[in-house]
Amino acid sequence: MVKKKESIVFLFLLALSIILVLVYNNIKKTNKEIYERIEKHEIAQISTIIHNIEQYIRDSYDIQDSKKLFTVLSDEVIRNHHEKYIMLMMSSNIKYTYILYKDEKDKFRFLLDASKADKANFNQKFDVQNQEYFDIYKTKTPQIIKQKDIENLYLTYLFPIISNNEVIALFSVDITTDIQNSILNSIKPLENFFILLIVIVVLFMIITILQLFHYFVTRKRVFTDPLTKTFNRNYLEELLLVVNLKDYSIAMLDLDKFKQINDTYGHQAGDYILVQASRIFKDSIRASDILVRYGGEEFLLLIHNKNRDASALELCERIKKNIYNNTFLFDNHEIKVSVSIGLHKHPSLEKNLQEAIKLADQMLYIAKKNGRNRIEIYDEKAKNCDSTLSKDLLFVKEALDENRVLCYYQPIYDHKVDEILKYEALVRIVTQEGKIIPPFEFLPQIKGTNMHYKLTQRILHIVFEKIKESKKEISININFSDLTNQDIEESIIKYLKSHPECAQKVTFEILESDEIDDVELFKEKTAMLHSLGAKVSIDDFGSGYSNFKTVIDIEANYLKIDGSLIKNIDKNDKDYKVVKSIIHFAKNSDMQTVAEFVHSKEVYDKLIALDINFMQGYYISPPQAMLVKSDEIFR
Ligand code: GH3
Ligand code: MG
Ligand code: MG
Repeated sequence: MVKKKESIVFLFLLALSIILVLVYNNIKKTNKEIYERIEKHEIAQISTIIHNIEQYIRDSYDIQDSKKLFTVLSDEVIRNHHEKYIMLMMSSNIKYTYILYKDEKDKFRFLLDASKADKANFNQKFDVQNQEYFDIYKTKTPQIIKQKDIENLYLTYLFPIISNNEVIALFSVDITTDIQNSILNSIKPLENFFILLIVIVVLFMIITILQLFHYFVTRKRVFTDPLTKTFNRNYLEELLLVVNLKDYSIAMLDLDKFKQINDTYGHQAGDYILVQASRIFKDSIRASDILVRYGGEEFLLLIHNKNRDASALELCERIKKNIYNNTFLFDNHEIKVSVSIGLHKHPSLEKNLQEAIKLADQMLYIAKKNGRNRIEIYDEKAKNCDSTLSKDLLFVKEALDENRVLCYYQPIYDHKVDEILKYEALVRIVTQEGKIIPPFEFLPQIKGTNMHYKLTQRILHIVFEKIKESKKEISININFSDLTNQDIEESIIKYLKSHPECAQKVTFEILESDEIDDVELFKEKTAMLHSLGAKVSIDDFGSGYSNFKTVIDIEANYLKIDGSLIKNIDKNDKDYKVVKSIIHFAKNSDMQTVAEFVHSKEVYDKLIALDINFMQGYYISPPQAMLVKSDEIFR
């Protein structure tokens, strides 16, 4: 946005200086007019005098032609008489006055010279430099010669002496620059005043221009992302003041698996690709579209709808293709990148731009979930059925972005040695208001989405750090689908390989459910965890479609008996029998048993009687933000 005050001042000064230039021009013109008027007046006066003299000479001697005039004025006495007479008209303004005639050879000669200085002799030759001397013989009218080269002379006034309609001689009067100077001097102060005024206004203009320049430079810095030179997020607020959302579609663009590029080729390569990718974005869009680096490797694109040369979707397709087809060359590496795009064609239908961005962002996550290098379009019709899903996705996304995801830890108790064996990490989200939200309020809703994977990644990171710092054993809940996610698998392998001491202390609690459709793959993944030194526990055993053979095949270290079978074990005989047989089965299969949901002394005692290995539940300790010590349980 242009800073209003400065712009108004600038425009005002601009208008003022234009006015001043016009006024100055007018003064110049008026000057000239005054000048010419004075000049004319002066000449008219001279003209009258000359005319009288000329008439007097002609009539006194009845002069008919130049010869007669020559003869008359050859007489020195007559000449002196007339010269004295003419001298009367001499002043500081008139320097020379003389009468010339043209001889047979067309040379001009003096007949009479009333000048005080440099007086010429009778019949002395007069060198003519100006054409006007000849012209006067044809035009028979007075001529004015503007003198430029002769010092102190301003102009020469030629007056014809006519007899019988023929020019027989001419009167020449040289007027000095005194007139010019006196006119100039009287106008000068006014002119100077205006020049001064113009200088002051121009100075102010320069200062305002410099200020505006400084403002724009600062503005540019504030709104430009230093790496990619696109607009940054700060610009959005400004943008909302000037654009009409109705004219735009919006798209959220996010480079796929960008973290991997950083991890594989280094941060510098990542930076290079960000710069190059944003260049490709810029080259793919039109001047009316607006590109904003929204964060990390995520860009917001406002696509102008008025341009009919391509629809918003076509433009997104073009961007996707251009990125996909490009090979980024960095340090002799050929790097391929793709981009996922969430498109909202009608953002103006939303409450505000932020709302529209959220929806486009959700579409972006769906594009990621559906395999990346894709475009997903927000469908107005799907709005209602999607809204709760969207809300939960957003809830988790914001928590991840704002670092509000954390883990609580519930001890798993070994009653035989009266020690805490390990802890189970349980995810929590802290709301912006500080409220702690348990997982059942958001986990089921985001299951199967990319957000779920991102959340798992974060939990892994938190738990691995906790193990490293506390040196305690901790178990992590993980879905089979998490394990088959390439990103998650890679980060687990990478971490456990680089921290083998932590690998010994981590247990993956895998939910044994109908989700495990590919048993071979399941076995492969658990074998991989075992090979890294980690332990595996089958979680919620007995709740779903428990397949004893699969459990034996995967050689789990622990069987965690589902809470629904434990909680009423002191009252329900059937549950008691089921738990008893599970414990029996586990023992025979070299697995240790864990009971969850141990909420009372009765349940606890029953489980001890069944020779359970480990127990977990509110009777022992609720989940806590910190790792409780053995002497802090049973309170
Ligand atoms: P997805 O396909 O799901 O988008 O995966 P991703 O790896 O691209 O996304 P994720 O959000 O997991 O990681 C984004 C990474 O981008 C993490 C961060 O280190 C990196 N990143 C963010 N900003 C910059 C930057 O300015 N330079 C570099 N080199 N990396 C950046
Ligand atoms: Mg990404
Ligand atoms: Mg669990």
